[in-house]
Amino acid sequence: MKTGYLIDMDGVIYRDNHLIDGAVELVRAMLKNGVPFLFLTNNSAPTPEDLAVRLGHLGLHGLGARHFYTSAMNTADFLSETDPNCTVYVIGEGGLLSALHERKIPSDGIHPRYVVVGEGTASMEKLIKAHECLENGARLLVTNPDNWCPVSADKTRPGAGATAAFLEASTGRRAYFLGKPNGYMYHRARRKLAQLSRINSEKVVMIGDTMETDIRGAIEAGLLSYLVLSGSTPLESVRDYVYQPTRILHSVADLTEEITTGKPSDQLNSPALQVVRGTRSRPLAKYAINRRPRPAMTK
Ligand SMILES: [Mg+2]
Repeated sequence: MKTGYLIDMDGVIYRDNHLIDGAVELVRAMLKNGVPFLFLTNNSAPTPEDLAVRLGHLGLHGLGARHFYTSAMNTADFLSETDPNCTVYVIGEGGLLSALHERKIPSDGIHPRYVVVGEGTASMEKLIKAHECLENGARLLVTNPDNWCPVSADKTRPGAGATAAFLEASTGRRAYFLGKPNGYMYHRARRKLAQLSRINSEKVVMIGDTMETDIRGAIEAGLLSYLVLSGSTPLESVRDYVYQPTRILHSVADLTEEITTGKPSDQLNSPALQVVRGTRSRPLAKYAINRRPRPAMTK
């Protein structure tokens, strides 16, 4: 029985517009061996086609739109399943607009049933319009809960969660957040993976670098979870969380041999786990963002 993988992108595959060591070999091994996988991202701005092109420019070849599932696609799936005749007023970018269009969910700037907020620039004009729609009874749906998103090692940008916080404050309405760690994101991603590959959907692993989203959501959805230390989580902070990943890897490079041979490696749990269980040590994350205090990444 094959294992399928849901793989976060930023901090796992690339960082600062550079591929992380081992990413090329991992993707090559998965494609060559027919291993089912989907890249799972909370970024609702790009389309899956955009992402395939972007990763191609970084040096990851052989990927297509079918290899990606974004929080924008999850939002469109959610609305088409739970309220198929709804209308929306959108603050977001091409990836969100295109996902809603594909699901035939119309835009409505007069009396929408939902205000949908995604990643991207929100002008004051659009915020005022969204505020008016919410005041007139629309419900507030957000593609992902990230208050901020990493741009580079020392730079962040406001995320969809921050835009939603503005509208929650101005209207008193409470937002509902899709994307990781919401179980609906994992539920639909697992279904898509199973449809694409016909694998048993219980054999799915989430690989991510962020405890609050990737790992928490995987555990709550009943998936195995592998934390990589190549992104936002330093090793020393892992044991501060109630929930723990199934495995801690230095990076995706640790997985290539296992994916190629199909046999679990005994080396994958160490030395990272031994360090966590022992005394505190320096974080191993090469690309960890700087250590100044930040607000919680999500609510
Ligand atoms: Mg990440």
